[in-house]
Amino acid sequence: MTKTIFLDRDGTLVVDPGYVYKIKDFKLHEGVIEGLKKLKDFTFFVITNQSGIGRGHFTEKDMHIFNNHLLDELKNHDIKIKEIYFCPHSPYDGCDCRKPGDKLAREAYKKHDIDLKNSWVIGDTKLDCGLAKKIGAKSIHVLTGYGVKHLDEVKELNPSYIAANIDQAADFITFKNEKKIIPREKIVALAERLKKEGKKMVTINGAFDILHKGHAKILKEAKKQGDILIVGLNSDSSIRANKGPKRPVNNQESRAKMLAAFSFVDYVVIFDEKTPLKLLEEIKPNIHVNGSEYGEDCIEAPIVKKYGGKIYVVSLLEGCSTTGILRG
Ligand SMILES: [Mg+2]
Ligand SMILES: [Zn+2]
Repeated sequence: MTKTIFLDRDGTLVVDPGYVYKIKDFKLHEGVIEGLKKLKDFTFFVITNQSGIGRGHFTEKDMHIFNNHLLDELKNHDIKIKEIYFCPHSPYDGCDCRKPGDKLAREAYKKHDIDLKNSWVIGDTKLDCGLAKKIGAKSIHVLTGYGVKHLDEVKELNPSYIAANIDQAADFITFKNEKKIIPREKIVALAERLKKEGKKMVTINGAFDILHKGHAKILKEAKKQGDILIVGLNSDSSIRANKGPKRPVNNQESRAKMLAAFSFVDYVVIFDEKTPLKLLEEIKPNIHVNGSEYGEDCIEAPIVKKYGGKIYVVSLLEGCSTTGILRG
């Protein structure tokens, strides 16, 4: 049986200025090549709604020329799409191939012996998540294309993860480092063992909802301050208490996984309290890292210093925040 990824085309693989079909407008989204390379154990299909044909904006032939260009570009990077399935109808035609209709996915399933339960749909709209639900596959919603606009409706369809782009989706799908996620009740024993081994422990905490370049930069710099980086992750309920019912976008298990996927993160521990003070008291880090918006006098400072630790302040990347991404 084949493990498959059903990829949406417009807004997911390629940038979509609206009914895209001209080669001159062809542009891959950031992270597409990197992400698809990480997913090389899967067979790729594209399933795409091309209502531009039914609405008369371009012809089927135009679409094929554009699709072939896409296939060639991916082939240049050793990425192979097995087949592209398309719906040429407008939403008013009442066909059953337009996503979230599952006719095209069923065709692929029959032809290629697909293991639907271990397959994924990646797309930027509720139509893609809706398709995943219908065929019993898992789904990842990407925030490229219409991703931000569709976010609220998509959340009701419970995708496995909401990712900034396909590269992050790939990290989520291929995640294997479960052991880095430490149950809260085991953190004291872990910290004591590390201390005995003479390891310099670094801690940092936050919500890490939708990961972005700023997060990676801070975490990398944090790791450089010692031997072992432990990330304290706010639980879902503690984020809701701080930021309101719309956050977090991703649940705590998914957020923990994505942090653990970074090579420079050694451990992730979820904490439920409003502040990380109790957690830090348990870990007694050598260094605690904080963003420059809180600085040296952050609320964590007294507890860290009480056990001989230091505060290290990193400057944040300008214009990088989850809230910023969600504004689109
Ligand atoms: Mg799309
Ligand atoms: Zn159709």
